[in-house]
Amino acid sequence: MVPNGHAPQADLKKIDVSRLKVTLSSDLKPIPSFESMLFGKYTTDHMLIMDFDPERGWSTPEIKPYGPLSLDPASSCFQYCPNVFEGTKAYLGPDGKPRLFRPNMNLARLASSVERIALPPFDADALLILIKRLIMIDQRWIPSLPGYSLYIRPTIIGTRVGLGVTESNYALLYVILSPSGPYFPPSRSILKRRNWVRLLASSSTSAVRAWPGGTGSYKLGLNYSPCFAPQREAESKGYSQILWVLPVDTDKGKDWKVCEAGNMNVMCAIRRDDGGVDILTPVLDGIILPGVTRDSILKLIAEHNKGLPLRGLSSELQIQARETEIYMSDILRWSNEGRLIEMFGTGTAAIIAGIWKVGWEDDDIVVTPEMEDVLKDSEEDTNGLGKIGKALYDRLLEIQEGRVDHEWSVVIE
Ligand SMILES: *Cc1c(COP(=O)(O)O)cnc(C)c1O
Repeated sequence: MVPNGHAPQADLKKIDVSRLKVTLSSDLKPIPSFESMLFGKYTTDHMLIMDFDPERGWSTPEIKPYGPLSLDPASSCFQYCPNVFEGTKAYLGPDGKPRLFRPNMNLARLASSVERIALPPFDADALLILIKRLIMIDQRWIPSLPGYSLYIRPTIIGTRVGLGVTESNYALLYVILSPSGPYFPPSRSILKRRNWVRLLASSSTSAVRAWPGGTGSYKLGLNYSPCFAPQREAESKGYSQILWVLPVDTDKGKDWKVCEAGNMNVMCAIRRDDGGVDILTPVLDGIILPGVTRDSILKLIAEHNKGLPLRGLSSELQIQARETEIYMSDILRWSNEGRLIEMFGTGTAAIIAGIWKVGWEDDDIVVTPEMEDVLKDSEEDTNGLGKIGKALYDRLLEIQEGRVDHEWSVVIE
């Protein structure tokens, strides 16, 4: 103990994996059909749980049957929302072994979210070991269908009891699992394009997702609920998500900085004069969530140029990925010049989702007009992805599903 009565930092983080207590459920649930696996609808048989107390640190971790929590109504999680979460997935490889995708990136992001709202720190390596144990126990829940996986939701909430507006020095950490199919389910109808993602961007300043100096770059629960009312409004106008923009003053006057597409990072494919393509995505400036999928796609594009061409694309095709500021005026100009050939959102849940239209100032910017012709001739539902988006999607999925060897895919043994 140090003089102020708190244990030193290293001890506070400690999670004793060796003392893990496992209580298996005696009443296993039936596995629902693939078709009914909407994102986040079902949870598995077990959960991982532990709590933090400032005197003794993290409790003995426990894997036990999934079930409700019992919390004091004055807990800070219900009042001031010191709540953080993560989202990653487990995939079943062709060898039948579960795999994680770059889990250390998620755990590092969880640690940074925890720090931002002054929740107690945790040992990320120990937590990863425990998550692997939980997945092995609920392994039968990993869907074997391509494009399906087991979504993993680590959550930490502040459980300090009392209404004082202060940091929560008590916390509850739990991990739950949910078998999930495509985030935007492919449509089986002739009018396949109905299911493509339509985004609404709003030039009104009333709703922004994040702002300079705010918390947009952390996965804090409090970033999401203020988006629900604007999201509902977008849906009432026939759009599926919001393209979040931030009003800014530039050298050329007032403009709107493009931030994210719903809860996904956003990328634009722009045809260059020399025939090559630029893939542009907003810079990580503190407003943008640093997505694992975003980072992976930027690296896959770099590999394409270093002699590992993406399948379905010519190795001659020069694709350059760039992180840069993107403004609504750019999107309008690229669209008018016929150079905006693709736009997509990226994230763990949706993987890569093609963007069809962007509503802006009572009009629609149509990103992929050629797609309508592509669809007429094709049996395959591309879900609104153009050539580049599809090539990236296929490559990412074969790595995640362990169909090729890659250092990003971590086998759980
Ligand atoms: C989680 C999230 C993303 C995507 O991050 P991934 O690590 O790729 O899943 C993008 N934007 C927001 C707002 C998010 O919450």
